[in-house]
Amino acid sequence: MATNDYESVLKMLEEITTNARQIQEQLLDEILRKNAETEYLQGFLHDQTDKQLFKKNVPIVTYDHIKPYIDRIANGKASSDILLVEPLIGFSLSSGTSGGQPKLIPITAESVNVTAALGNLHLSLMINSEELLQQQSPKTNHFGLSICRHFGDLSQVGKRMELLFAKPDVETPCGLKASAVTTRAFKESSFQAILPKLYTSPYETIFCPDTKQSTYCQLLFGLIQRDEVVVIGSIFAATVLRGIKFIENNWRELCSNIKTGKISDWITDSGCRKAASLILKPNPKLANLLEDICSCKSWEGIVRKLWPRTKYIGTVCTGAMLQFTAELEFYCGGLPLVSGFYACSEGAIAINLEPLSKPSDVSYTILPNTVYYEFLPIKEDRVTDSQNQVQLHTSRHKDTETVDLVNVKPGQCYEILVTSPTVGDIIKVTGFHNNTPQFQFVGRQNVALGVDMERISEADILKAVAEAKALLEPLGLILTEYTSYGDTSSAPGHYVIFWEIKPKKDNKNKNGKELDPKVMEQCCSKMEDSLHFTYRMYRKENIIAALEIRVVKQGAFEALLDYFVSNGASLSQYKTPICIKTKEALNILDSRVIAKFFSPRTPIQDN
Ligand code: AMP
Repeated sequence: MATNDYESVLKMLEEITTNARQIQEQLLDEILRKNAETEYLQGFLHDQTDKQLFKKNVPIVTYDHIKPYIDRIANGKASSDILLVEPLIGFSLSSGTSGGQPKLIPITAESVNVTAALGNLHLSLMINSEELLQQQSPKTNHFGLSICRHFGDLSQVGKRMELLFAKPDVETPCGLKASAVTTRAFKESSFQAILPKLYTSPYETIFCPDTKQSTYCQLLFGLIQRDEVVVIGSIFAATVLRGIKFIENNWRELCSNIKTGKISDWITDSGCRKAASLILKPNPKLANLLEDICSCKSWEGIVRKLWPRTKYIGTVCTGAMLQFTAELEFYCGGLPLVSGFYACSEGAIAINLEPLSKPSDVSYTILPNTVYYEFLPIKEDRVTDSQNQVQLHTSRHKDTETVDLVNVKPGQCYEILVTSPTVGDIIKVTGFHNNTPQFQFVGRQNVALGVDMERISEADILKAVAEAKALLEPLGLILTEYTSYGDTSSAPGHYVIFWEIKPKKDNKNKNGKELDPKVMEQCCSKMEDSLHFTYRMYRKENIIAALEIRVVKQGAFEALLDYFVSNGASLSQYKTPICIKTKEALNILDSRVIAKFFSPRTPIQDN
């Protein structure tokens, strides 16, 4: 990036974060002016375009409430009569893996441009690799950022080895396509133009419909171009880990392909084979070197060894992805984990202006020019209160007004609303950049586990697991993945937490036989102690039975991912569900259980 471009990005960020109030007001005015006569808004605003009336009358809804309108549009009714006046060019299809069912979000030419701009902005702000190399005293500019002044000259810096997966579009009955946001981005001509120069994965591998063949080829080509690779990544941390584990399980075959210059026969996808014919040449020297690296006993720091020029891992490590950071850190040997942005199918929401902050400390800065936001304050107890959650999602709560972007308060948790429907995410405001809030991602609102009247949120589960897994660390064990399930098959019901555990050092020791039952029981109790008052009281009164950890064998969560992907989830956007909701998913984990532990005591009660 030329210095001028970089400076204009900084200037633009300064401007939008300073003028957040006006920008948001203009956005809402425009939305109301254009769409006041649609069936949806008319029902609440009666042709008026007044902002206060919007706040008073238009209810806070979840996707489920607007789904019937969207379904009618997808089935051929004109969107301009129902929801949005601007012509639709398609739908974004959310992954549906973290919160529930996939959502169809109508998109216009403008909304696509705005989302694409986030990607460009993120790249523009990416870290100066030289600074990362030096690390001692990152230069900071008036933004307080350690960012790149010449990242644009990537041909001199190197390539990105990113695991990217396009997902086939779904044609809706009205003829418009529903695509994953990421797939749409991969199809952009601007992305395709930079792909060969900046990425190690050829287009054909990203669009290969068979995810196993795609993964194999992307990793193979990444290894072949190892000397050029300066960034390793994917959209979400789970996919980066999956890639590393894939190499762990398949490195002999990958090396053999590199040695002979011939791709394995099971790679039948014509695009992948064509790409291989252009890249793969016999290279016994490289193959031997890679074999040496991969055959070492411990895979600690393997990423640095395989790709010695890597400066950072570019992937979302916040929220539900935090659970993967311990294992990523293990494999990546101290490389910074950079969570660049926060986005969802509803829009490009925020960017990380301090890319070097630790995943647990990342605060994203909201982009005030992408969508119209409202923030619904969440009292700590309401996050976990099922009764209130139901109300939050059905109407504007009488005593809880939404807050405009510029009026949120540091320290307070909010649910994000994007022009009325909730995204389903809870954030905690940490401060402001100019007049624009910065926040930490807390968790998803609607992901709740419960076996009686109590409900616990994703944030509760994340916190409980974080506290319990600390007990594994002194034993040299890493909790690699987890999920939860409310088991009501026997009375009283109880919480089941599935854990996949791996030893830090000895890579071969994979079956968890050595797990100390005492420590595992302590982990169960620790989780219970961390849960909220209602849960602990119910436990004391035996309304809920003891929490159970079911340890699953290695690869169980990969099987879960395969299941979701085979059912239509986009691999690029896959997030391990924090709570298991379907029988099929439960069976996949249950059939791989190798040990079960229960909490031996009732949790600590408040005085
Ligand atoms: P999807 O709509 O399938 O693309 O998924 C979007 C969801 O992914 C968001 O609503 C968040 O729950 C999650 N997500 C996206 N970006 C981040 C991030 N930076 N940190 C944590 N969670 C994220």
